[in-house]
Amino acid sequence: MSDRPNQQPKLAAMAALAALAPFEPVASVAYQSVGRLLIIGSDERVTEAVTALGNNLSAAVFWTGKTPPPVLTGTEVRLGSIVSLNGFLGAFELLWRPSGAGVGAPATEAASFDMVLDLQAAPAFQMPQPPQGYLYAAIDQPDAFAAALAELPEMVGEFEKPKFFAHKESICAHSRSRKTGCSKCIDICSTKAISSNGDTVIVDPHLCMGCGACATVCPSGAMSYQYPRVADRGVQLRALLGSYRDHRGDHR
Ligand code: SF4
Ligand code: SF4
Repeated sequence: MSDRPNQQPKLAAMAALAALAPFEPVASVAYQSVGRLLIIGSDERVTEAVTALGNNLSAAVFWTGKTPPPVLTGTEVRLGSIVSLNGFLGAFELLWRPSGAGVGAPATEAASFDMVLDLQAAPAFQMPQPPQGYLYAAIDQPDAFAAALAELPEMVGEFEKPKFFAHKESICAHSRSRKTGCSKCIDICSTKAISSNGDTVIVDPHLCMGCGACATVCPSGAMSYQYPRVADRGVQLRALLGSYRDHRGDHR
């Protein structure tokens, strides 16, 4: 006989949970990366990163230094000022203004990348949780730099993650007749996954990290968390508690 109180009912409850049939899978979000790496920076770590990663990844450099860029044979090096950097693993878009562009040259240029190693003094993505595929290391963060060099080659291939949320537009209080009402989910999202198009909120599932904060603050229930679904969580709780009670567990 066990000398720990309620051990048998607890074990029985865990067994009941494990015996449940698998739930219907939730929708998923896909990423596809073929290894096009953008390295942004202005110090010797740029050369170090190209040397370390150039054989496995297709690296390109955006040089932000005031000094001339290093000579990197076989690696494309761009110069200028960054206008914007957006996206996520497999779909980053860089827009920049080329320096020294001649008459008739385009004012801005654009290029696509699968991942970004940002070595600037300040990160291009300022949100608390930047998108997947983006790694940042300041000059005084050698551990972060080493970790990024180890991690980037692993970011090639096809990846999936659950679509964590569901948004029901019909009961969302964001906007009526283009008058903005509630914007609680936009304000709280730490990944900037939620935005407004004026009439409704849009959630980019690729940027969502699944924290659940938007569902917690939503006053109307329009935003809900679905991983696991509420109904599935209910089934799990009923199985746990029912088995615990049937095996005479002490619930006080
Ligand atoms: S669960 Fe909601 S708040 Fe959290 S990252 Fe996703 S969209 Fe943003
Ligand atoms: S918090 Fe809820 S009601 Fe408010 S804008 Fe977001 S989804 Fe709509």
